[in-house]
Amino acid sequence: MTKQVELGSITIDRVVEQELPFAAALEFFPTLTPALLEENLSWLQPDAIEPVSGKVRLCVQSYLVRTPHHNILVDACVGNHKTRPTRPMWHMMASDSYEKSLASTGLGPGDIDFVMCTHLHTDHVGWNTRLENGRWVPTFPKARYLFSEHELAHWTEKEKADPEGHPWITDSVLPIVALGRAELVRSDHALGDLVRLVPTPGHTVDHFSVHVGRAGADALIGGDMIHSPLQLRYPDLGMRADHDPAQAAQSRRRVLEGLCDTSTLLCTMHFPSPSMGRVVRWDEGFRLVPL
Ligand SMILES: [Zn+2]
Repeated sequence: MTKQVELGSITIDRVVEQELPFAAALEFFPTLTPALLEENLSWLQPDAIEPVSGKVRLCVQSYLVRTPHHNILVDACVGNHKTRPTRPMWHMMASDSYEKSLASTGLGPGDIDFVMCTHLHTDHVGWNTRLENGRWVPTFPKARYLFSEHELAHWTEKEKADPEGHPWITDSVLPIVALGRAELVRSDHALGDLVRLVPTPGHTVDHFSVHVGRAGADALIGGDMIHSPLQLRYPDLGMRADHDPAQAAQSRRRVLEGLCDTSTLLCTMHFPSPSMGRVVRWDEGFRLVPL
């Protein structure tokens, strides 16, 4: 069970599906040089980079935000029973870790009012649906699912042209749309006065982050705007799945400058546990002071 964070009238819990060594650092960050990696290994190991394999360690998780009005899940991880032939560690998973982690917060799937997907990659949409009698049904029976309209249009086109190349859209996004459970919004949408989307494009065409709380007691849930503490120190460093690396770097730099030396908590999706902290300056970049 992870530690709950209280920020004024809201609380934030992590719902962790897995934490694992994912890919070799030099493959994960295509422009990273062996020399720069070497220079940073002493502080990246063992949490952010696994010592023996040299692989980047990623956490895969959702954030559960409770406001006085709503229970909101930001991002939906990988999911169970999904065909992911290009990702062996996520292929046909049958794990109870996500459900157990959600249960440890005191809430169940039926308590979730909104699911927000920062973007529509496979490790952020999986638990949108679950398999029931051979059909994909919403995992969260009463939830509305918030997607960026532009992001959804992009992936819907891609799936139409090449369904086999985009199975996560077929099994975890389109069933939600077909059932009328999706709410299509702009990437600066606000939900009441405590939750607001912040456009952070680049990793995908219309990626958003989620700002929660009020000034002085607030957090930014960053989705895949950033993947590793190494990108805090070097905000221009892109990861291999970035749609537009230059735009992703711009979004990262802008957001991190805004957070630097403030009390706003940065909640990352993929940093190793505890995944959250406050941003301070480090040379030309930044580092996280863990919570
Ligand atoms: Zn991701």
